[in-house]
Order: sequence, then C-alpha cells, then structure tokens
Amino acid sequence: MSRPEDTGTPEGHPIFVIQKHDATTLHYDFRLEADGVLKSWAVPKGPSADPKEKRLAIPTEDHPLDYADFEGVIPEGRYGAGAVMVWDRGVYRNLTWKSGREIPVTRALEQGHVSFWLEGEKVRGGYALTRFRTGEKGEAWLLVKKDDAEAAPGRDIVATETRSVVSGRTIEEIAAGEEPG
Ligand code: MN
Repeated sequence: MSRPEDTGTPEGHPIFVIQKHDATTLHYDFRLEADGVLKSWAVPKGPSADPKEKRLAIPTEDHPLDYADFEGVIPEGRYGAGAVMVWDRGVYRNLTWKSGREIPVTRALEQGHVSFWLEGEKVRGGYALTRFRTGEKGEAWLLVKKDDAEAAPGRDIVATETRSVVSGRTIEEIAAGEEPG
C-alpha cells in the first residue's frame, strides 16, 4: 500500500478522507472514493480504534473527489457553515468478499455492508460499515473497527489527534483563519 503522501493513487488505490467539521454540531465526515465520487457519512463521534466501539454513521450526499482536499471555513448562510479540517486521509483497499469473490464497493454499499482496509496517517487497519436502519427515519449505519493488528482497545484517537494532517492546524485555528505553519 502506498502512503498518503503518494496519493494521486500511483497503484490505483481509491482514496478516503475524514474531515472534522465544526458545523451546527461537531462531527467527522467519513468519505470513501467509489465510482468517481466520495461516498459520505457524518460520524458524530468520529472513528474509533477500539473494535468494541460502534460509531453511528449517517449517510450524506456524495461529494466530488476534489472535495477531499478542502480545508477552511464554509461561510455563514451556506449549508454546513463552519470550519472544516482534513483530519486524516489516505488510500483504502476493499475487503468485501462473498463466496470467494470480491464485491465491488458500490454494490456492497447498495447491499448495506462494506469492509475495507484504511491506510491513513491516524487511522489504519480494517473497518466495516454496516447499514442497520432504512425507511422513513432515514438510513443509519455503524462504522466499526475490525479486531486486527491495528486495533487499539481503549485508545481514543479522536481525543488525542486534534490537528490537520495537511496543515497541522487545530479546528479553532482553522476557524480563526490562521495561516498554516
Ligand atoms: Mn459535515
């Protein structure tokens, strides 16, 4: 697997990004590249490295691929107004298999379950996204760490990792318009 610095995907790996977003309520936007767009979920508590932690993930609209680079402030009056940080990014590998065959990510998402390996700077290892609710109240999914060598029970990566992977800024520094570095 290539490191995040190598993206531009020389080996053809799709990208992922996790953007910390201080909108009406603070959340983490988890986005996976699939079919030329970023499939997106809002994760109120952010990802966990602990397989026992199930993190609620609410689907949001697809975003264009180049949004993965966006860090800054969405102005007042616009949808999602508030500061956005590139909290983590990297590439991922699809791990969704059934009967010995890989299920493409787009189909896996339609079926409501996708497994993948993340190669980020902060978040690494296997994860699964599983839909547990559909219907009038809207879809709801769970983002859960797999119990593998990268699992870290009890480790709160959201609490300890508070800076952007592209600029080193905190969400407060981004909101205040401080320049990187
Ligand atoms: Mn958001």
